[in-house]
Amino acid sequence: MINLFGMEMKKLEEQMLLEGQKKYRATQLYLWLYEKKATSFDEMSDISLKFREVLKEKYTLDLPSIYTKQVSSDGTIKLLLELNDGMKVETVLMRYSYGNAICVSSQVGCNMGCSFCSSGLLGKQRNLTADEMVGQVMVMNSLLREENRGGRVTHIVVMGTGEPMDNYDNVMDFIRIVNNQKGLAIGARHITISTCGLPDGIRKYANEGLQTNLAISLHAPNNELRNKLMKINKAYPLEVLMPAVREYEQISNRRVTYEYLLLEGINDTTECADQLVNLIKGTMGYVNLIPYNETKLCDYKRSSNNRVHAFLDYLSKHGVTATIRKEFGSDIDAACGQLRAKVEGRNEK
Ligand code: SAH
Repeated sequence: MINLFGMEMKKLEEQMLLEGQKKYRATQLYLWLYEKKATSFDEMSDISLKFREVLKEKYTLDLPSIYTKQVSSDGTIKLLLELNDGMKVETVLMRYSYGNAICVSSQVGCNMGCSFCSSGLLGKQRNLTADEMVGQVMVMNSLLREENRGGRVTHIVVMGTGEPMDNYDNVMDFIRIVNNQKGLAIGARHITISTCGLPDGIRKYANEGLQTNLAISLHAPNNELRNKLMKINKAYPLEVLMPAVREYEQISNRRVTYEYLLLEGINDTTECADQLVNLIKGTMGYVNLIPYNETKLCDYKRSSNNRVHAFLDYLSKHGVTATIRKEFGSDIDAACGQLRAKVEGRNEK
């Protein structure tokens, strides 16, 4: 069975031709899926009964189901979604003044093994398909519709569990589907992929001709420290990663965000701030400082507010644009892999 939510427009057009249909069937199907929110083929009244039978036989409109739902006092919604094979993934909706941002997972588990992150503790179980990523947005949109306040997902960050560059093709299909005017019509500039730094993926992404954004999880300004925090740095150290990022900037002409988690006594010193300035000075990039979400599964401590602000000031004074990431859902398990770990009974060491 082929899930229609995973088919980007060009592929769906080709598929319709293979079915002996006209190309415009693809557009028609998109309208049913994304505008009219059809949940069954029977509703598709402008498609012949005969072809609807073919669709029922070979295609599905399955979406993930909600396994648990947590709503924070700030309105943040965190869902644990159950997929067709029983696997579970997290997805989070954050309400900004400028819109609703969803944090989408790209894999079940993750193989990157960052030492501070609870998503990767059990390794990767499998990649998510494009329909499972689109499904996260569809499910969140249906919750927003239930609120009756006219809300919908307006921004997407692929920053949930998983490494998007390790599931490249499915993530690109996902982006094209949500970005398509007749799909979910989310503007390219409102879509961001975050990677721990896989240079081949970054170069490929640069050449996709997309106007979407790239964020790099940097977290350390030198190899010695980065090796300790992120094992991917041993395969792709900074002198390999940074040229790929610069190439991305040149080809795409887009500004890169460097994510920098602040861990007390580890990477929050003035020396680190100084090294960070030297590493990214001269690029168009800017730094997003992330207050660490402490988890029982890892030993790191979050830097004090004073340290976070001192780090920010140092960057700003030395010509590097930086912001502090706003936090959401601190009263629920909204951080990175924590809900899934809890439901699966892994919250205690
Ligand atoms: N694999 C991708 C995307 C998923 S992780 C990447 O590495 O970018 C998304 C972001 O959350 C990364 O910057 C990651 O380092 C960060 N993160 C992981 N655990 C965290 C925690 N406990 N608190 C705050 N940020 C965390």
